Amino acid sequence: MEKQILVIYTGGTIGMIKDADSGVLKPFNFKNIYEQLPMLRQFNYKIDFLTFENLIDSSDADKAFWIELATKIEDNYDKYDGFVVLHGSDTMSYTASALSFMFNNLNKPVVLTGSQLSLAEIRSDGRDNIINAIEVAAAYKGDIPMVPEVSICFENKILRGNRTLKNNAENFEAFISPNYPPLAEVGVNIKYNREFIHYNNESNFSVNKNIDERIAVIKLFPGISSKIIEAVLEVDGIQAVILETYGSGNAPTTREFLEVLKSGIEKGIIIVNVTQCTKGSVQMGKYETGKQLEEIGIIGAWDMTTESAVTKLMCLLGQLDNKDDVRTIFPQTLRGEITLE
Ligand code: ASP
Repeated sequence: MEKQILVIYTGGTIGMIKDADSGVLKPFNFKNIYEQLPMLRQFNYKIDFLTFENLIDSSDADKAFWIELATKIEDNYDKYDGFVVLHGSDTMSYTASALSFMFNNLNKPVVLTGSQLSLAEIRSDGRDNIINAIEVAAAYKGDIPMVPEVSICFENKILRGNRTLKNNAENFEAFISPNYPPLAEVGVNIKYNREFIHYNNESNFSVNKNIDERIAVIKLFPGISSKIIEAVLEVDGIQAVILETYGSGNAPTTREFLEVLKSGIEKGIIIVNVTQCTKGSVQMGKYETGKQLEEIGIIGAWDMTTESAVTKLMCLLGQLDNKDDVRTIFPQTLRGEITLE
């Protein structure tokens, strides 16, 4: 039977075209997609397009946007075999990570893509990205999808969404997955790396829509004043802080610095430790500087990206009433976002 794919356009560069009269970029009407991408007709799939009423630059993504997107997928989950989400590249890794934690028992492909150059540009990378994303969303072996995960398809690679980060504002290869291999690679054929893809045996797809945004990220730098950290920990209602530390999870060892963090933890704020390095993992027991953080109750995020840690904390805080449960579950891998040694 022909596969049915839903393409959801949320905004971003990929869907912009130049207005013939004024020359300014305006959102493209996906009803006319076959004029822009006639090769889509060669696919043996039924492709439907759904456009967000409020198209956003992805810098404006927030929890309401994630919930709207997740709800559109939930509402159409049974009708389609796979989903493609067209999204601005700037915060695509956050959205992909958020969706991965919001979805329970995902059994269908949800492929996010976008582009560095709009479809209107002669050299647009958007054409290949859309075509590859649709092909991946429709790829099944028998009844089983090849990539039943939330992934990002960009410049010939399909990456696990919650492992990615945008690391290039210029190249077509805008995303990397520094701590996890690609789920698939696009060449003459699409090569699926099945040993790295997660296949879920449970049915009963559901969406967690309780998200708590009351968190903060503090990036350490040499000379950072503990007053800055103190000020963040005093923000009204703050529930958790991500400390972006050095190397394998190290931070200054001064008493003042540790005291400030400790008093935040005593107030019930969850503090987690994510490394500033793109590759490698937090191992707080390795150096004295990291060990002290562990001793005061800071939780290591292993090799989670900041994008993943942010969205995972928001989802766990939204779902669980008991902060101790958040502390216990956060360092465990839920959607393949952590490498287990
Ligand atoms: N600023 C745009 C966005 O993230 C860039 C892009 O579309 O890639 O929405």
